[in-house]
Amino acid sequence: MSLHDENCRCEACHEVRRQQFEEQQATLMEKYGWVAHYVPGVDTNYVNYHTHGFKDKWNHRDFQIVFPMPPEVAHKIFWGLSEMMEKGKKFADDDLGLDVWDVITNLPVRMMKVKEGERDVLRVIMPDPNGLFEGDEGVLETFAGQSQVDTAR
Ligand SMILES: [Zn+2]
Ligand SMILES: [Zn+2]
Repeated sequence: MSLHDENCRCEACHEVRRQQFEEQQATLMEKYGWVAHYVPGVDTNYVNYHTHGFKDKWNHRDFQIVFPMPPEVAHKIFWGLSEMMEKGKKFADDDLGLDVWDVITNLPVRMMKVKEGERDVLRVIMPDPNGLFEGDEGVLETFAGQSQVDTAR
């Protein structure tokens, strides 16, 4: 479809990629009712992975993950959450969702209400490998800043 190579940054290629992205998003939204965006950290180690569509499909806040992890792992978590929505689960703003993290291991996660752009979403706070959260004594440093990441715009 494109005249140039896939990394070309010219405006025409940019426009083609934008259209392809939008078509792909619309297809996924139609098929599943939600999509996830994987935005890498720019000036920070944290990321801004988040879902769209949970609100319309399940009348529930969308979810966000800021702890840096491979998108495939985050997708498993989002997928697990979508399955819980399907079963009628609703999270409060601060909920130790034991079964959430069961998608990969037996550790609980914490939910935290934050802004993603203009939206209210639930940030999924990851425990460190010992099950400790930020604020807990001895929590690993890389896990300790998740609540501080500002994704409001
Ligand atoms: Zn080009
Ligand atoms: Zn998005």
